[in-house]
Amino acid sequence: MYEQLSGDRVKCNLCHRRCTIPPGSTGFCKVRRNVDGRLYSLVYGKAIAVNVDPIEKKPLYHYRPGSAVLSIATIGCNFRCRFCDNWVISQEEEIIGKNLPPERVVELAVKHGSDGISYTYTEPTIFFEYAYDTAVLARQRGLFNTFVTNGYMTPEAVKTIAPYLDAATVDFKGSANPDFYREFMSVPSPEPIFETLREMKASGIFVEITNLIVTKYGDNLDDVYSLASRIKEILGPCTPFHLLRFHPDYQLMDAPSTPIQTLEKAAEKALDAGLKHVYIGNVPGHRLEHTYCPNCGQLVIEREGFYLSAWNLKDTQCPNCNHSLNIVGPVTRSRARWASLL
Ligand code: SF4
Repeated sequence: MYEQLSGDRVKCNLCHRRCTIPPGSTGFCKVRRNVDGRLYSLVYGKAIAVNVDPIEKKPLYHYRPGSAVLSIATIGCNFRCRFCDNWVISQEEEIIGKNLPPERVVELAVKHGSDGISYTYTEPTIFFEYAYDTAVLARQRGLFNTFVTNGYMTPEAVKTIAPYLDAATVDFKGSANPDFYREFMSVPSPEPIFETLREMKASGIFVEITNLIVTKYGDNLDDVYSLASRIKEILGPCTPFHLLRFHPDYQLMDAPSTPIQTLEKAAEKALDAGLKHVYIGNVPGHRLEHTYCPNCGQLVIEREGFYLSAWNLKDTQCPNCNHSLNIVGPVTRSRARWASLL
């Protein structure tokens, strides 16, 4: 997905950086190279991580709850988050990874009993061709596809993957505060991410939102309210909204773990903004890791960390008041075994 420019330069149109790349150079993500006026992905078929995960780990709580997803990644990223918890692979500059073509990824998924494939851990936009070819084959084998993405992909990229992409977790950090994105992530503006959300909704992709609350630097509660309001306006009030606890990592070891009280206040703000399914993540055992009926308050799905411990739904309806929840079923407990396959 690129244009050829004069002087053998190319313009990559996968993400909003829209890098202009001279011959012999790579784009900002360092995994897409201009070779004699043609743009090549350096990470196609080079998996750096392959695991069978519960879908709740993405997190996707409302799309096929309880299912298992084969999760793959390559190295590289188009962001430079100073707090990245996958920085060892996202910021790796040497092109490394196990040779694993799309056909083999799908075979592994089927062999290990996965219900779908998730393109995750690093940013799937930067290994788009690999993800796309895998997603097409996965769909042919009856598997679903999900992205875990920073949302910085172009509308062209969303439109291209949309026919094969069933669901996406779109990750915000610091409640989309523009200064936070510039200072801590080297991203000029979070605005294009909202455009991605509109495009995903229009394309029928099921979307859940995460928002990492980074202590000291990205924990402004007014920003939480503002982000939640925009999510409600763009995606609707029943969009699952996960407030994630930050733990010190990478270049942000001086910021302590987010206090649980801060997350609870943030959850109140998101509820005040009108969102109906607000979760707290990375706090096992918290009451806000469960799903409640937004109409009557009945507990309908109980979780322990990433695992379903109990559910009480009639298909996707509340058994108490018959309210239809924003859940794509079925709700099951996968028989696949969680495993690392690399
Ligand atoms: S995917 Fe990489 S090369 Fe393409 S525009 Fe984004 S950062 Fe630049």
